[in-house]
Amino acid sequence: MLEKNIKIVWDKISNACFKCGRNVSELRLIAVSKTQPSDLILEAIKLGLNNFGENKAQELKQKAEQINFDVIWHFIGHLQTNKVKYIINHAEFIHSVDSIKLAEEINSKAEKINKRQKILLEVKTSEEESKFGLQSENDVFNLLEFCKSKANIEVVGLMTMAPFTDNEKIIRKSFSSLRLLKEKINSFGYNLTELSMGMTNDFEIAIEEGSTMLRIGTAIFGERNYN
Ligand SMILES: *Cc1c(COP(=O)(O)O)cnc(C)c1O
Repeated sequence: MLEKNIKIVWDKISNACFKCGRNVSELRLIAVSKTQPSDLILEAIKLGLNNFGENKAQELKQKAEQINFDVIWHFIGHLQTNKVKYIINHAEFIHSVDSIKLAEEINSKAEKINKRQKILLEVKTSEEESKFGLQSENDVFNLLEFCKSKANIEVVGLMTMAPFTDNEKIIRKSFSSLRLLKEKINSFGYNLTELSMGMTNDFEIAIEEGSTMLRIGTAIFGERNYN
């Protein structure tokens, strides 16, 4: 099942890239392995995947310590400041930074282990019920400015979640607004390269709108079991 799913996902990614004239190599496929057992992750590694995303700090830590392969871990969920300690040794990217307090804690924990932590700022691009993410451009610029003054964090891009809907227009608008925001930020002298957007139900639209990091769970591993 896993092998077939991965092939289908890559085929869809290739087709979407072809349609909009992008190169597949511009995209990083992050297999969202939250709730999935380490055995299944190992199987996915054997099938060529090497970027994995988790949304619970202790779960990421536990899996990263268990899996002795050179894989790239992404923290993609809401992160409480008191849990930064669990992931700082393991996460190559933290996608979901949305406050100065959190950035400060990441910087301080990264400093202790002499690491420059790559982060993305999570931006709210829709009127969704979702509680997390920076609400205004002003908040984004303030946080960018703060991070610039910190030696142990590096902001590499922006992340968003599209609203849960099958209205393609609404999803596209959410993704394109993230891309436009990144362009605006870069016009002020920043050099953000990453756009983390696109999940199982909307990744093809995200590719068309410039995504560089796809966070795909269900299409790869099947439905999650939360028991
Ligand atoms: C669970 C999750 C995903 C993956 O969702 P799927 O619909 O299973 O592909 C992507 N991003 C975040 C932040 C998630 O929590």
